Amino acid sequence: MSKIARRQFLKLSAAAAAGCVIRPGAEAMAQDMPHLDESDPVAASMKYTDDASSVDPASRANPAENQICANCALIQGADGDAWRPCQIFPGKLVNANGWCAVWAPKP
Ligand code: SF4
Repeated sequence: MSKIARRQFLKLSAAAAAGCVIRPGAEAMAQDMPHLDESDPVAASMKYTDDASSVDPASRANPAENQICANCALIQGADGDAWRPCQIFPGKLVNANGWCAVWAPKP
């Protein structure tokens, strides 16, 4: 291995190790975020609810059944968590069983 390749390898290894150390902290910070309030003006404008079963599927722009935050393309965080970050509501957690009018299928 050349000196340059070895140096690059060591830099990448250090970056990967730092990522492993930082990741648990990021998860803890995400779970510390407040839950999105249904009465929040932005949430209300997107018809967000903590309980997708309370929404009549026929009232949706895309009236497919089984639309919940957990199977939306915009959900973030770990599968199985009850409350997760969402790309549409930065700094807040949405309920995995929630729904809003922006719901999009995972690719
Ligand atoms: Fe839930 Fe998707 Fe709406 Fe975010 S964009 S609140 S994950 S349905």
